[in-house]
Amino acid sequence: MNLTDIGEFGFIESFATKFDHLIKEGDRGIGDDCAVLSINNTTNHVITTDLLIEDIHFLKDKISAKELGYKSLAVNLSDIAAMGAQPLYSFLSLGIPKDTPVEFLDGFMEGFYQLSEKYHTPLMGGDTTKSADKLVINVAVVGSVEKSKMHLRSMAQTGDLVCVSGFLGDSGGGLKALLEPYEVDANLHKLINRHHQPEPQILEGLFLGKSEHVHAMMDVSDGISSDLKHILKASKKSARIDKEKLPASPLLAEVSEKQQWNLTELCASGGEDYELLFTVKPEEFESLNQEFVAKFGKPLYVIGKIEEGPAEIQWYKDGQSIMLDKLGFNHFGG
Ligand code: ADP
Ligand code: MG
Repeated sequence: MNLTDIGEFGFIESFATKFDHLIKEGDRGIGDDCAVLSINNTTNHVITTDLLIEDIHFLKDKISAKELGYKSLAVNLSDIAAMGAQPLYSFLSLGIPKDTPVEFLDGFMEGFYQLSEKYHTPLMGGDTTKSADKLVINVAVVGSVEKSKMHLRSMAQTGDLVCVSGFLGDSGGGLKALLEPYEVDANLHKLINRHHQPEPQILEGLFLGKSEHVHAMMDVSDGISSDLKHILKASKKSARIDKEKLPASPLLAEVSEKQQWNLTELCASGGEDYELLFTVKPEEFESLNQEFVAKFGKPLYVIGKIEEGPAEIQWYKDGQSIMLDKLGFNHFGG
């Protein structure tokens, strides 16, 4: 058997519980967007780490050094946002091929600094080594959250609405524009920008985290068709998702029509949008949304509902059950 038979998540599951007995009460290990460390009766620290490898997560000739530095931190801050937490510190480790221009590294650090400054998250340490021929980037971020305001993937309740904090699919569209030989016009450029400079939903996560009516929460890194399943598995629930409710930006809708892209597939499985995916008590959605619009100038989107049943997504179109074949991103398949 090799890794493609069990996939990324099969591999993680194969060792995750082995460490459970070493984890002290109040802490949480593998399985959520961040690990949780209880530091006192009222506060948790949360920790996340993500790895980006050249030619797997980015193409050095397509992304600028500054964008790469920005994105490396952004994808980690997104996991902090997913817990409803405030970022505190970051750590950066780099494996660098020896022919890398110093100008590239300066640009990378400038992008990393720009986002650090925006969310008051100082870089506190890391490691730098030589790499054979690919650039390897590992970032870790520590955050802090009041215990009562922390949101786990396991908190979804039957009857909850399933919501997202913004448009889905733009980043996937940007990736398509990068990988296929399109002539990049202004619209494709905007989508590529969404792929290269995702905005971590830190303030939105803190706002949603404060509400006792928001239950499960995570960030959308692999596409909701894959990510929502993590909430369903952790919460032991099922979900009904209405295909026509997946929020596509007018920009993506326009480009998809022109290029004949499958808009639903991009919204469901595109990945790397780094919006928040969460569940909320249905009676409380309207007032939550009104407050959200007043604060952030954009709405929340309801895409479906949590139900009792197996941890699977049931897809609907115009009230009819349908099949969606494209799954979210899972390294190694499985
Ligand atoms: P995210 O997309 O939110 O970063 P992942 O899907 O990458 O989360 O990972 C799922 C869970 O598995 C997380 O809790 C993560 O910390 C854990 N995990 C992933 N890879 C490893 C590993 N090699 N060792 C320990 N835990 C891991
Ligand atoms: Mg995540």
